[in-house]
Amino acid sequence: MQFETIAIHDGQAPDPHTGSVTVPVYQTSTFEREDLEHHRDFFYSRIGNPTRKALESTLALLENGRFGLAFASGVAATMAALQVLKPGDHVVASNDIYGGSYRIFEQLLRPWGVTTTYAENETTESYAACITPETKLIWLETPSNPLLQLSDITALSELGKRQGFLVAVDNTFASPYFQRPLDLGADIVVHSTTKYLGGHSDVIGGAVITSNPALHTIIKNYQAAAGAIPAPWDCWLILRGLKTLKIRMKEHEANALHLAGVLEQHPAVERVFYPGLPSHPQHELAKQQMSGFGGMLTIALKGGLPAVKTLTANLKLFILADSLGGVESLIASPPKMTLGALSPEERRRRRCTDNLVRLSVGLENAADLEADLLNALDIPISI
Ligand SMILES: *Cc1c(COP(=O)(O)O)cnc(C)c1O
Repeated sequence: MQFETIAIHDGQAPDPHTGSVTVPVYQTSTFEREDLEHHRDFFYSRIGNPTRKALESTLALLENGRFGLAFASGVAATMAALQVLKPGDHVVASNDIYGGSYRIFEQLLRPWGVTTTYAENETTESYAACITPETKLIWLETPSNPLLQLSDITALSELGKRQGFLVAVDNTFASPYFQRPLDLGADIVVHSTTKYLGGHSDVIGGAVITSNPALHTIIKNYQAAAGAIPAPWDCWLILRGLKTLKIRMKEHEANALHLAGVLEQHPAVERVFYPGLPSHPQHELAKQQMSGFGGMLTIALKGGLPAVKTLTANLKLFILADSLGGVESLIASPPKMTLGALSPEERRRRRCTDNLVRLSVGLENAADLEADLLNALDIPISI
């Protein structure tokens, strides 16, 4: 079955008791046991809940994986995936990476004896150069936040199989509609379902998908033991989002591609970072490992931070907000917002300059979005 059919049907058969076409929200903490020796499929909702199970099965199928696990947030999913590590293990992670993942590596894992080295996202050689005998995992974010850099999932997964380390991919930006890392050889996929999978800026969630039973067991045991599970209602919202993932991603991409082309020609814009542009240094890799380029793009403005202030103040449709992947267009300043907690030196190392602006291109009419951007770029206002 094809992607959109799975998204609508799989793991979500009509409710056997009532015929309900949508998966019911099983808002219950516990389930009656048959007797002292026997329980049904579910007995306590931290361990398992039918609404969550439907979401987990659908997520696994969309990533072409065997096992899916849902979490209360993307960072909870990240923390869960990293339970495959032990003190003494070493991680190589992408340098341009979600700020919350960096915080996990530095503030949570390092004190527990798991060290992380950061490699340049764009070259396999850079990751390879960081590998030590202790390296247990490579953590990729591709395309990355906020520079939209790519890493070669196939090449690094092959290296991992030869050298004995695992490859995990944060697939939040691409979504499984445009990129399926497990098919490219990765061992673990992580999502913030808050973003495109939920798709409507109304829920926080995360997911881990793998086809490896041993990894799944470790992460599932952690899910039950640490308990960062999503509520049934939140699972239901994400399930509803998944049903339209394909059509949303196609529209996000069409709008982003259009705006990327327009912005690339604009005199106020120094550079556009979007993997769908032929000018993107890794456009060829994007075409190989992704079936589309997504709805996120970043621009560097010639006028520096003052120009960023003017743009964000003048926009009418793009909302200044931290998240991404919803139906409405959002704009963010990575150095001031998502990476604002880093030291200036850390931001410099990541080439996160003050003139960057990240756009999450929504599903509004492309001409309306273009007019909003052009208008805001062209009217200088004093702040
Ligand atoms: C938002 C995000 C996360 C964290 O997800 P939360 O749902 O906010 O906890 C992780 N990775 C990427 C790429 C993200 O954009």
